[in-house]
Amino acid sequence: MGDVHDTRLLSSALDALGDGLVLLDNAGRVVFWNSYAERLLRLPAETARGQPVDSIIETIAARTTTPQTTRTQLVAALAQPDPTRWVEMEFAATTEDAARIVAARSFGLRDENNIPLGTGMLWRDVTRERTADAMKSQLLSTVSHELRTPLASIKGFATTLLRQDVRWDDKTQRDFLRIIEEETDRLTEIIDNLLDMSQIEAGALRVAKEPTSLRQLIRAVVDEMRMRTEAHYFVVDLPSELPRVLIDSRRIRQVLTNLISNAIKYSAGGQITITCEVEADVVVVSVADQGEGIPPQYLDKVFERFFQVDGASTRRVGGSGLGLAISRGIIEAHDGKIWAESVTGQGSTFRFTLPRARDESNGQGVQNE
Ligand code: ADP
Repeated sequence: MGDVHDTRLLSSALDALGDGLVLLDNAGRVVFWNSYAERLLRLPAETARGQPVDSIIETIAARTTTPQTTRTQLVAALAQPDPTRWVEMEFAATTEDAARIVAARSFGLRDENNIPLGTGMLWRDVTRERTADAMKSQLLSTVSHELRTPLASIKGFATTLLRQDVRWDDKTQRDFLRIIEEETDRLTEIIDNLLDMSQIEAGALRVAKEPTSLRQLIRAVVDEMRMRTEAHYFVVDLPSELPRVLIDSRRIRQVLTNLISNAIKYSAGGQITITCEVEADVVVVSVADQGEGIPPQYLDKVFERFFQVDGASTRRVGGSGLGLAISRGIIEAHDGKIWAESVTGQGSTFRFTLPRARDESNGQGVQNE
């Protein structure tokens, strides 16, 4: 292979590199700036080439969230190139680009006689790793906190019951034991939720879909939920012709239970309305309450795991912030969509779509119950 080829090959390889590569000569001027560095550092090679490194560092530092620290760290990294030491900086979000975390390291360049030729710098986008790290530690702290609350209560009541110096009457004993039972259920629920969430995130949530009567399923869930509240009344308004849907009924029950339980939790009382609308390929199920509603900026965010609208009632009613994330995972596993609508102060409506079951006998019509 000739020299011309070698150079072209090398330069295209350096451009294809999944990292930003910058080379400086002995005078500290930029002699090479690959295309990944252009994107990552938001600086075109044409602008960078020939520039003294100080002014480049200045430009880069100014775009980060901590210009002073970044400048000092980059200057130090160049003064003493050490390929094992990474310097991290966060680029602020711009209109074109989201915020990014970038790591840089520098290394000395020498010829075969060990004569210095200049310095190289490698720039790497570590946003994904850092975000994942942050999410993992948030997950651990949330989970520990969530588990601790019911555990503390179980421990407290058990210890109280075991006290040698006090005799509790039968009623008090039963009351304490009931709390222990409820808190144990709560622990089980949290752990079930975590397991569901981890399956959803691993893409491993399995749904066994069967043609199902939505009417029966909704009735069953509403009958059960009615017992959990005295302050609310339920209105179930279903069209007379309701086609069957192709669903995993256990999972869809879980979604409906979660939405109705939220409607109860986040409204002091009033009507909870469950309706169905039949469309060409799907049935849209809605659960509406007359509660406090959800501010518009949070309508999408409530489906993120652990997200809770920062309000008095969220704290009051507890909850782990996983219910809607799991519901979304379940609905998406049915190729459906789930979303929230709300006028603040006038309640919230959650809607989701379910696929209609095709009638297998004639291959085209849709079966009714
Ligand atoms: P949890 O109820 O355990 O906190 P969810 O994932 O079910 O978790 O809900 C996330 C958040 O969305 C809740 O903390 C609450 O702030 C908000 N939210 C959910 N449903 C409603 C509703 N019907 N009305 C008002 N806010 C709601």
